[in-house]
Amino acid sequence: MNPVRLDEFKDIASEKDREDPLQHVRSAFGGLDDSLIYLDGNSLGPLPTETKELMRRAVAEEWGGGLIRSWNRGWYGLPERLGNELAPLIGAREGEVCFADSVTVNLFKLAGAILKDQPGRKRIVTDDLNFPSDHYVIESLVELMDQGHRLDRVSSPDGIGMPMEVLAEAIDEETALVTVSHVVFKSGFLYDLTALCAVAHAKGALVLVDLSHSVGAVPIDLEASGADLAVGCSYKYLNGGPGAPAFLYVRKEHQERLVPALAGWFGAKDPFHFTPDYTPVDGIRRFLVGTPPILSMRAVEPGIRLLREAGMAPVRAKSESLSELFLEMREALLADAGFTLASPRSTGLRGSHVSLKHPEAFRINKALIEPVLDRPVIIPDFRVPDNLRIGIAPLYLRHVDLVRAVERLVEIVETREYERFSHEPSAVT
Ligand SMILES: *Cc1c(COP(=O)(O)O)cnc(C)c1O
Repeated sequence: MNPVRLDEFKDIASEKDREDPLQHVRSAFGGLDDSLIYLDGNSLGPLPTETKELMRRAVAEEWGGGLIRSWNRGWYGLPERLGNELAPLIGAREGEVCFADSVTVNLFKLAGAILKDQPGRKRIVTDDLNFPSDHYVIESLVELMDQGHRLDRVSSPDGIGMPMEVLAEAIDEETALVTVSHVVFKSGFLYDLTALCAVAHAKGALVLVDLSHSVGAVPIDLEASGADLAVGCSYKYLNGGPGAPAFLYVRKEHQERLVPALAGWFGAKDPFHFTPDYTPVDGIRRFLVGTPPILSMRAVEPGIRLLREAGMAPVRAKSESLSELFLEMREALLADAGFTLASPRSTGLRGSHVSLKHPEAFRINKALIEPVLDRPVIIPDFRVPDNLRIGIAPLYLRHVDLVRAVERLVEIVETREYERFSHEPSAVT
């Protein structure tokens, strides 16, 4: 370790934190203190303090006191109301977003709706960087439909990103749907949505984008980019809590034409007429299926509010500042300890997390998390086989946190502290 360089980074970081216009937002997350550096906000965001009181009221007053009457006191409209709260963060209009189900289930519903709507087109194009569940669910939809559809996975030339011309080559007049993750879960590669939509639309294909790793971390303008449909996750940068319901977006112009591949009573016209024949309701609600998980859904709002108050431009500016500092430290301090970069180096091509590779990444991750006297507990996340992901959530992370994390990473490697840990994996990594 070069102690002089480390001290320089400490000074730079303190200066940047002093000038940080979002520094006050950290206090909205009461559970974060200096003994813990949380670098996993891109997998499970921390608890906003306000959510605790909100959940207490939702359980005690809405459920306990209001009982079934609460359906008419806000619960019934909650999926759309929350969707409208989220809309400005993703460049959607009123009535284009609702919360429902999980990302995987929403993908099934929306991709199925498109395939049914475009019976002449049999190809679906994605990349091999996409989230595994996205591949699985589309494959299972294709199998179930049994109409000769095919999912083509375009290979990334470097395992990190996807040049637009490579993807463009795979999209043709047979393509019904192009579906990718806006920010790739492993490398952090960020697609240019506008360019992607232009390429797909030129061939008459629609675009369904997974925003799970970009919502709340990257400014998104679905309307301007031309995206047709989107899904996304609320337990990552939106801080909605474990298993929080996902959201879906359907551009207004498509809503009337598209019927979800899963029909359920919450998406039907007049669900309380209990008729056996399904007619989808008008608008975004038709993409609901069954009864929404109200308690989980109630927990989503404070995280969205915090992001709206902060503003996505300052959030992105801070994310870039934190990420750049981290990447400079990787070059100056971590490279000698064997850490290589598995994310795009260029800011414009990266979301808000950084992937490092190290042959001992698994045991280093364990050593970071293990409490050691006088050292902060550091929680990043590990992805097989040798990936350490550093989630850079701008609402609560400070530049000094990243310097301390780097200092600890070097210490664990230099002292071989990781050798105390086994190679035994746990259920969730
Ligand atoms: C986290 C994540 C998901 C999660 O999907 P669920 O079905 O809600 O568990 C899906 N896609 C991407 C890109 C993700 O990052």
